[in-house]
Amino acid sequence: MQKNKGILVVVSGFSGAGKGTIMKELMQKHSDQYALSISATTRAPRCGETDGVEYFFKSREEFEQMIADGELVEYAQYVGNYYGTPRAYVEEQLEAGKDVILEIEIQGALKVKERFPDTLLLFVTPPSAEELKNRLVGRGTETMDVIESRLARAMDEADGIEAYDYLVINDVLDACVAEVHEIIKNEHYRVSRNLSAINNMRNELKSFKR
Ligand code: 5GP
Repeated sequence: MQKNKGILVVVSGFSGAGKGTIMKELMQKHSDQYALSISATTRAPRCGETDGVEYFFKSREEFEQMIADGELVEYAQYVGNYYGTPRAYVEEQLEAGKDVILEIEIQGALKVKERFPDTLLLFVTPPSAEELKNRLVGRGTETMDVIESRLARAMDEADGIEAYDYLVINDVLDACVAEVHEIIKNEHYRVSRNLSAINNMRNELKSFKR
């Protein structure tokens, strides 16, 4: 039977919800199944981040050129910076049968869903708002000003959660990673994603008819 194309999966969640850590674990455990898209951004690298690993770091001019050249599946502004998903890698990996994960914020998620309606949308939250603030402060990578902007942004994003297909609570990391993996795995069994297999089966059955 022909190998199905992979599923496009969007993972969003408040800044500090632990999406990055979940994605890292998921990729380590199931690198044969998933491809994680690396976004382009105009935000400055954080300490320890490397160009081409966490992000492709771009100037505003470079980013705007990528937009003009149609190189992005989607892009959005988040707390003063551009973030966008390079198209070529996503298309290549889906064709190769991998489930491609985009870890992006909500505006981008909605644009992807509009363009590719069978995208699976997952939203990750920490167990409480208090915990979210603690994680953002504890991470120590942002100034208090930026943390406050990110918390304000979380409040706006909370209004959009109903647009997502699944909510995952990141309390115990391993459990959360297993849940995300199960959700994506089960999505492969959805009837609407198996129409060509169903049609093949129908045709074979027809050939038995006398
Ligand atoms: P951070 O600066 O913490 O790495 O990311 C800030 C926000 O931008 C996060 O919610 C992250 O998921 C989102 N983000 C990262 N890459 C992209 C992208 O390519 N497109 C969109 N729309 N959002 C992104």
